[in-house]
Amino acid sequence: MPIKEGTVKCANDSNHVMITAEGNYALTTVKKVSEGNHEFKPDQGIILKVFFCNTCGYIQTYVDSKLRY
Ligand SMILES: [Zn+2]
Repeated sequence: MPIKEGTVKCANDSNHVMITAEGNYALTTVKKVSEGNHEFKPDQGIILKVFFCNTCGYIQTYVDSKLRY
């Protein structure tokens, strides 16, 4: 669900209030090392802004363009 009029909307119900999670979060990179095995790269990835709905549990993320990654 996109940001509409500067407000993040819940994808399940537009009347639900989305809450901004405090702190920084990341989607880390993984590298496939063999079939079924991946190595996590916690020093590589994308820094995210996280929003969640306290009513239905829906989570929405956006890349945080203000932070370098
Ligand atoms: Zn919701």
